[in-house]
Amino acid sequence: MRPFAYAAPGSVPAVIDALRDARPGTKILAGGTTLYDLMKLGVEAPPAVIDVHRLPELTGISVADTELVFGAGVRMADVSDHPVVSADYPALAESIWRAASQQLRNMATLGGNLLQRTRCGYFRGADFACNKRNPGSGCDAMEGHDRHNALLGASSSCSATYAGDFAIALLAFDATVDVVGPLGERSLALADLHVEPGENPAQEHVLAPDELIVRIRVPLTAAGRGSTYLKIRDRESYAFALASAAIGLVLDGDGVVTESRIALGGVATRPWRAVEAERSLLGRALSEESARRAGEIAFAAARPGHTNGFRVELGIRTVAEAVRIAGERAVR
Ligand code: SF4
Repeated sequence: MRPFAYAAPGSVPAVIDALRDARPGTKILAGGTTLYDLMKLGVEAPPAVIDVHRLPELTGISVADTELVFGAGVRMADVSDHPVVSADYPALAESIWRAASQQLRNMATLGGNLLQRTRCGYFRGADFACNKRNPGSGCDAMEGHDRHNALLGASSSCSATYAGDFAIALLAFDATVDVVGPLGERSLALADLHVEPGENPAQEHVLAPDELIVRIRVPLTAAGRGSTYLKIRDRESYAFALASAAIGLVLDGDGVVTESRIALGGVATRPWRAVEAERSLLGRALSEESARRAGEIAFAAARPGHTNGFRVELGIRTVAEAVRIAGERAVR
């Protein structure tokens, strides 16, 4: 690891001042569970880090009249253990406790988790061609090992999968992210935070280097209770998704779907909302066939590489099973 400067300003305005004056390449340090890893691998080599993990303004989970509010510095473990989140938004709680390990969840923050980098092995190995790590160098995954790479949203430059779980559940519930920068505070939909790789895979989100996520807001909806986050992976703990689905449903007294939310994880270059699949469920009684059909629609645009085609059927079945689970929990 190369030497780097360290600063820990005592407030959000002080962080923004420090970021404004920082050398190019300076990184925000929160839980450190991704950044320190990448610095040790030589993938990241910031000249300085600005530590935000002790800022009191970034802590706390609150339940307001119309929304749940999470400080960006809240530890992942505090979300999965929160009684309101587990009762009213099981998909949010499950997306956290199915992520990483308990030790990592004790350290990692929500804001950092939203921006975690891909697990593409070529990105993390300094000897490989990788347009994301070294723009213009090529992509060794294209002819190499692409078992975990994306089925949706890939470009000819990059097919790296977005690795997070929490963002998938947030996307299903139309969450909003509040960000502070030198020009003040702004809010953006979680759906607009991450970008597809296109011709510039190095750009993964729309935040400027001097902007800091301060909170995440999730509107209250009855679909929260009828929700689940189902994650399928090679082993049952401490592994990234081969396919995952966050589903939220509301049913009427006859079992007909009146509200439907579907987001996919582990299969796309960014958190992926399956809008057409959601529509396919609306106005119909939930059944094994309609759940399977929603999965097929969600993956209709999938473009597998040479070793990951099995994940199309896996993804379809993941959606179908998650729809079944959410239906059993749904408010009627
Ligand atoms: Fe790099 Fe993306 Fe190619 Fe992986 S898929 S090697 S992250 S450019």
